[in-house]
Amino acid sequence: MTLTLPFDTSYARLPAQMYSFVDPTPVSKPALIKLNSPLAQSLGLDATSLRTEDGVAFLAGNSSADGATPLAQAYAGHQFGQWNPQLGDGRAVLLGEIVAPNGHRFDVQLKGAGRTPYSRMGDGRAWLGPVLREYIVSEAMFALGVPTTRALAAVTTGDPVYRDAILPGAILTRVASSHIRVGTFQYFAARQDIEALRALTDHVVTRHYPHCNGLADLLRSVVARQAKLIAKWTSIGFIHGVMNTDNMAISGETIDYGPCAFLDEYDAGKVFSSIDRQGRYAYGNQPRIGVWNLAQFATALVPLADDQAAAVEEFTQIINEFADIYDSERRTIFAAKLGLNASSETSEALAEGLLRLMAQYGADFTLTFAALANGKIPPDFESSPEFSAWEREWRAHNPDLELMCRTNPQIIPRNHQIERVIQVGVKGDFKPFEALLDAVTSPFTPLTPDTAPFAAPPEPQQRVTQTFCGT
Ligand code: AMP
Ligand code: MG
Repeated sequence: MTLTLPFDTSYARLPAQMYSFVDPTPVSKPALIKLNSPLAQSLGLDATSLRTEDGVAFLAGNSSADGATPLAQAYAGHQFGQWNPQLGDGRAVLLGEIVAPNGHRFDVQLKGAGRTPYSRMGDGRAWLGPVLREYIVSEAMFALGVPTTRALAAVTTGDPVYRDAILPGAILTRVASSHIRVGTFQYFAARQDIEALRALTDHVVTRHYPHCNGLADLLRSVVARQAKLIAKWTSIGFIHGVMNTDNMAISGETIDYGPCAFLDEYDAGKVFSSIDRQGRYAYGNQPRIGVWNLAQFATALVPLADDQAAAVEEFTQIINEFADIYDSERRTIFAAKLGLNASSETSEALAEGLLRLMAQYGADFTLTFAALANGKIPPDFESSPEFSAWEREWRAHNPDLELMCRTNPQIIPRNHQIERVIQVGVKGDFKPFEALLDAVTSPFTPLTPDTAPFAAPPEPQQRVTQTFCGT
């Protein structure tokens, strides 16, 4: 039996060179790890039927749904600054788009669903580790109020995946406003395929920026969304880890949770990813890379302009607006993190002062703000006269602790906790995954005896110093 899902895949109506129709490759023994029932419900899908054998077969790519036209999208991208003209969905298949009861259109994609025409040398599969990581981190990001793709389900496949070791295969069902990337535009611009470039642009305007009129307007809106997104990352200590242009979504959602990680101790130069040897995607470098990526987006739009020389000038100016939007957003959020209603020179000086002390003491980023919100002295500053002086000055501005509690998470997905749930998940025990997921998806709730262990920073021997792309 096949499920009936209300797919309406507008991408499949775009010019044929933009994608390849391809079915997921069946797997041996699908088993459900987790279904995100609230998300299913918000999409208008029946969670109960997704949990049945037919539902799990569908989530593993073993059976199709009526009306589905599965496809892999073509895209290109700059990876660590190096141009790659041919990437594309090498291990992901878009099952289709669904218009949710709230009227918003969403992609439903299987990640790890087998080979596609874009797989190059890859096997088209994912192993369990990155699937659990993306599930946990993307759902935590959503709970933290950060625009992001979501996780609808995770299944194990029953098939081995060959990496450095033999590992259990898994598939994530990812939901996104769309999977259109900067690299999608680059792909057609590089081929001088104006037909596809124009169709893609019109599609993006209709789908994500219906109020935009013209290329400059579109670019300005995309720049603003990315600037605000990256300011949010900064405010919670999130490091994406692989901000290649193919991993930057035009919708303004965080996408592609590979070697991502959260700061434990505050350090603007922090890098976790094993493949980021130059620190290109370091925590403090993310706004600069955002600008770099958006400049590639602007470049890809130029061929569509009537007057290309004038467009280059205008687009350059728009890209330069990123810094002000980012700064203003960051200042506003950091003022709120300190319980101050509006940003001002004072709030900025207080934020800078605290960050300086945090860097000097190696203080935990999340726990410092969480403790302040809870009216406590942050653990790393217990006997610091410098901190006491800062605190006196800060308290003189009557911080609003309720605002702080709404703004500063008590808990984030810590790298060492994610590693731990992956290690036991590989052995078939998903209880720690569930417990961690529960804790990090209620980040602003006061800690309980059940959730408190997940909020703790790593012991020296638990410290994660490197994350791996995990493909
Ligand atoms: P990522 O590093 O996950 O952003 O992927 C970069 C590119 O490599 C994308 O085109 C992916 O589809 C492709 N890719 C990553 N892993 C695999 C895999 N196991 N099999 C095929 N393609 C892959
Ligand atoms: Mg990617």
